[in-house]
Order: sequence, then structure tokens, then C-alpha cells
Amino acid sequence: MHETELSIKKDKILIVEDEAAIRDMLGYSLMKEGFSCDEAADIDQARASVETNRPSLILLDWMLPGMSGIDYARRLRSVPETRDIPIIMLTAKGEEADKVKALDSGADDYITKPFSTKELVARVKAVLRRYSADNEDGVIEVRGLLLDPDTYRVTANEQDLEISPTEFKLLHFFITHPERVYSRSQLLDHVWGENVYVEERTVDVHIRRLRKTLEPFEFDKFIQTVRSVGYRFSAR
Ligand code: CA
Repeated sequence: MHETELSIKKDKILIVEDEAAIRDMLGYSLMKEGFSCDEAADIDQARASVETNRPSLILLDWMLPGMSGIDYARRLRSVPETRDIPIIMLTAKGEEADKVKALDSGADDYITKPFSTKELVARVKAVLRRYSADNEDGVIEVRGLLLDPDTYRVTANEQDLEISPTEFKLLHFFITHPERVYSRSQLLDHVWGENVYVEERTVDVHIRRLRKTLEPFEFDKFIQTVRSVGYRFSAR
């Protein structure tokens, strides 16, 4: 593990990757773009790094010795202190089921090896942008569903919900744009940002996760599917 100098005000990326060559390549590419980096070769090192020096984003390899990246992502999401750290999963697997599994574990995005560093940097920036946007707005409430953009907290009937930042952004967008139908590609533009290479299917995965989170409070019915068009938020 090491940290670069000049880390003041820079977004810090934690790279969790057991292959030293890939780790170095990622660190080099990100530092060239002005990020500071911490490196970890396994989950134990990653944990220590998250505890002592909280990263702005984690690049998390799927296949690691010991605990897998997927399991670690789930663990990060289940704890209030680390729930809102963005995660991009690095995966050698390119199958659709694996992509869904990566997103279901709580990752905000995934990137399949081999990837270009240019694409990786673009995705890192897109995820960070998504997180920092809308932070200025105040608390929003709709029929017992309450969102606080400053803390990324969501409560339903005064109970805390476990929600990943991407679902938070999605819910925030819906709640601030009610009653209008948005196509998957429109949601990608608004929530994920333009010029981001994400498949439209990704939207469905996050919608499903969001509904599952809201389901115990029956708020999932607010997120409505409009067949062959897209989705709409309606609290009526
Ligand atoms: Ca690996």
C-alpha cells in the first residue's frame, strides 16, 4: 500500500487488485488524471485502507485470494459507515449473468478485463460525478418517504433504508421528476450522465434493486413500469 503526495482535495481511489502489474497500471493511469491512489492486494489490506483513510471510490477486483470482491462489496454496502462509498467492479467475466451479479452485489458499475485505461478513467469520473451532483438540494419528502441528498440517507416511515448511491440517485431523480415517463436511455442520461457507456439493461437491474428496498414499506408501487416505454414515479 502506498499513497501519493499532493493528495489534498484530490479524490482518492482505492485499487483492490491482487495482480501487481494491473494494480500498478491502474494507479499510474489514475494518478496521471490527478487522482490520488491507495493500493491493496487483498481484502484485509482493503479493509485497513478504508478504515484509516476513507476512499472516494473503490476499484474492486472480482477474483481475489480469500474473500471475493463480490462478497466484500456486499459487506461494504451492509455497513452504514461504508454504504455510500462508490464501487466499480473489475471483472474478467463478461457474461450477462456475471454483470448482473456484480451490480446486485452493490457495485455502481463494472468494467470487464481487458479494458482501456481511457475507458476506466471515464467510468471513474462518471461515477464520482453522479455522487457529487444534487448534493446541494435539501431534504425531500413524499408520503413518508424521505431523502436527504446531503447524507444520502433515505427513510421510509422513519425507518432507515439501506440504499446504494446509484439507487439513491435514481430515486432522487424520480422523486424530483414525478409523473413523467422516462425511457431507459433517458434515465441513463439523467442519472448516470451522458457519454457513459452503460447498457440499458443496467437500468432494469437498479430499478429492481430500488423496488426491493422500498417493498417492505409498499413504496415500490411508486416506481411504475410503463410497458414498452420505460418508468415513471408516481405517489398518487
Ligand atoms: Ca484478480
